[in-house]
Amino acid sequence: MRVETLGDGEPEVAIVGSIHGDEPCGATAIKSLLDADLDVERPVKLVIANEKALARDVRYVGEDLNRAFPGSPDADTHEGRLAHELLSEIRGCEILSLHSTQSYPAPFALVDELDGQARSVCPYLTVEALVETADYSGGRLIAYPGVIELECGLQRSEAAAENAELLSREFLVAVGALSGEKKPRHHPLSVFRLEKQIPKPDADRYEVFVENFERVAEGERFAAADDEPLVADRPFYPILLSAYGYRNVFGYAGSLVGRLDGEPAARPGRETPVQTDRGSRKR
Ligand SMILES: [Zn+2]
Repeated sequence: MRVETLGDGEPEVAIVGSIHGDEPCGATAIKSLLDADLDVERPVKLVIANEKALARDVRYVGEDLNRAFPGSPDADTHEGRLAHELLSEIRGCEILSLHSTQSYPAPFALVDELDGQARSVCPYLTVEALVETADYSGGRLIAYPGVIELECGLQRSEAAAENAELLSREFLVAVGALSGEKKPRHHPLSVFRLEKQIPKPDADRYEVFVENFERVAEGERFAAADDEPLVADRPFYPILLSAYGYRNVFGYAGSLVGRLDGEPAARPGRETPVQTDRGSRKR
């Protein structure tokens, strides 16, 4: 794990890249931010998390780091120990964690649940949607207070790395760590919630016929396993849906739960600590 600090004092803001070793966009973005010699207004920690898996170009070495939290110093796996170390580096910070997908080229954000921090930051990021992971946060960094995860684009693409750097800069502006214009990027921003996983039947060949974040109607054929169609038994919004992104599931069925307008009056200013609602979090 590589940990760098920008500015003076104890960091209150952290950006984490490459929790997954086969998602180099985060590491690339963090290196660019380090090279840029940013003039920060709050101390910032920059972390390249799973260097060992990155070096081998694999998602993980022993187990999925983003299912291994909280981890332990005595864990059997590299990622089990790394989860513990990473948490002790960034605990208490406002955290951005950079990922990439096989399911969707445009950036979108994920949070455990829509809280004050998500409301004050996400409208100012160039993302197409915000997803609450809700019941699917377990073992992931996103289950901790103050974490926003970003899917920056398609895995290993140059665009994902460019998006990751741009979004990191927007995040730093949104939390007051970097000067710059804080303006709503997507207006309004749709908020979805993961409701259930869509299991993959046993097959050799998988297909997906619908677009992520676009409503699937009841009775619509949305995917196929070999020649067997999968039909929606009720309307849903596909999220992280892809033919081959995950081994056992196509992705998630979600619901549209609201929209964020990002109106200036609706967000706390810098004098109002965005940490105020952390104490009320369930986890
Ligand atoms: Zn990832």
